[in-house]
Formats: sequence, C-alpha cells, structure tokens
Amino acid sequence: MPSTYKTECLVLRRQPFREADRRIVVLTPGRGKLILIARGASKIKSKLAAHLEPFSCSQIMVAVGKNNDTVAASMVKKKYITLGQSLLKKAWADYVAEIVDHVTKEGQSDPDIYCLVNDIYKYLDDIAMRTARDYLSGFLVMAGFVTKLISHLGYHPELNNCSVCHKKISSNGNAFDFTQGGVVCKSCYSDNENQGSIVPVTDATIKMLRFMFAESFTKISKLKATKVQLNELKNMIDKFLAYYIEVELKSVEFIRYLNRQKRRLSPKA
Ligand SMILES: [Zn+2]
Repeated sequence: MPSTYKTECLVLRRQPFREADRRIVVLTPGRGKLILIARGASKIKSKLAAHLEPFSCSQIMVAVGKNNDTVAASMVKKKYITLGQSLLKKAWADYVAEIVDHVTKEGQSDPDIYCLVNDIYKYLDDIAMRTARDYLSGFLVMAGFVTKLISHLGYHPELNNCSVCHKKISSNGNAFDFTQGGVVCKSCYSDNENQGSIVPVTDATIKMLRFMFAESFTKISKLKATKVQLNELKNMIDKFLAYYIEVELKSVEFIRYLNRQKRRLSPKA
C-alpha cells in the first residue's frame, strides 16, 4: 500500500500529461507547492477532474509514489466560480498563479503565501466587474497583491527615506531606484549615473504604494487614482516583478489586454 496524506489545496494550473492524465500544480498551506498527477483526469467524465478545476480550493488525498505523487481523491471545498467565467478575472487569476508558481519551491511550506493567494482569489471572485470602478478596484487589488508578495519575500522597499543619503524625502522630484530598493531624493537621483534602474515617481504614487504595503485588499480597492498614478503604478509593478522576483511573465500581454478591457468597460476612461 502506498503511503497517503490529506491536505487542503488551491489549484494553480493543470496541463495534459501522457494520454489521459493531468499534471496539476497546487499550493497547500502546510506542504507548499506540490506537482501531482491526476490519473484519467483528461477524460471528459472524470470525477477527479471536476474537483481539481483551476482557482478552486479542494481537499485532496495524495498517494506518494516512486516517481510521481498522485491525487487519489479530491473534493471541492470552495470554487471561485467567476474566475473561470470572466475572461478578465481569468487573466488576473492566471497572472497570480504564474507569479506564485515562479516564487514558490516544491514542498517548501509557506502558509502566508497560501493565505495571500486565497485572499486575492476570494476578492477577485467577489468583484461584480460591471463598471470602470470595478475594473479599477480589481487592478488596484492586483497591484496590492504584488506589493504584499514582494514584501513577504523580503523585498519591502524603502518608501520614507532616501535610500542613498537616508534623509526623509520631501515633496516632488523623487524617483525609485530598483538597485537601491527604495525611493531616492532629488539630489541623489540627479547625481546618480545609473539611470537605467531609476524611474521618476510622483508623491501621490509613493503614498499609494505605502498604503498598498500596509492595508487590506478591501481598503486598497477603494483607493482613488489618476491616470498618471495608474500608469506609474503599472510601471512600478512590472519592474518590481522584473527586479525582485526576476520573472518575465508570459502574461505580460496581460497589461495590454486589460487596457483593451478597460476601454470596453468605460469608453471615457
Ligand atoms: Zn538622497
């Protein structure tokens, strides 16, 4: 008899494996990321597959194998249904899954990341996504997810004092230096020759970032943001991912896609 264990999991992704099986990447609270084989899960009538849909929270039994561990049984606990129904929400949920798959190692427990992913899926599932405000809330929460994730991974940027001279930053003319890991004041910014890693950033965006590191998704979703702030924020998030997580996402097209969706939701936005 093979040894087995039970665990709750979030299904991040799945792909075909051999003829009728699937390879499932799941995140668990106590065992970290697991890559499992679900036998027969590619068959249309597979009961196992129905309980291993992406973006669902399931209770599974895992059979430990010589080469691969397999899913012996599964039962959905919570299905974040709308993440599979809305193209926009699916793009966001895929984005989360891709980042999390990249930053987690197989078998390395990290309950905080599990909670963070569960929270963001729950939050995205709850958004109505009918108006431009809904879209904005979703985008802000996604940005909040990235800031919280990089902070958890140990890259909490300095947002109060200049990262070079350590003086408290005053209003206007500041920038963010990704090699220094924080904001730089006007004089240090203009002295620095390594401009490639530095981007100017307005005070309003610095404040918004501080808020995102500290506050809940619910509060982040209610933030107001101008077009300039949103563009700065998008740029910062992309660079946070590139510098601190070293990930070039397949879903980088995502930003362009979202912009198209945004125009569709609100012709004036
Ligand atoms: Zn300085």
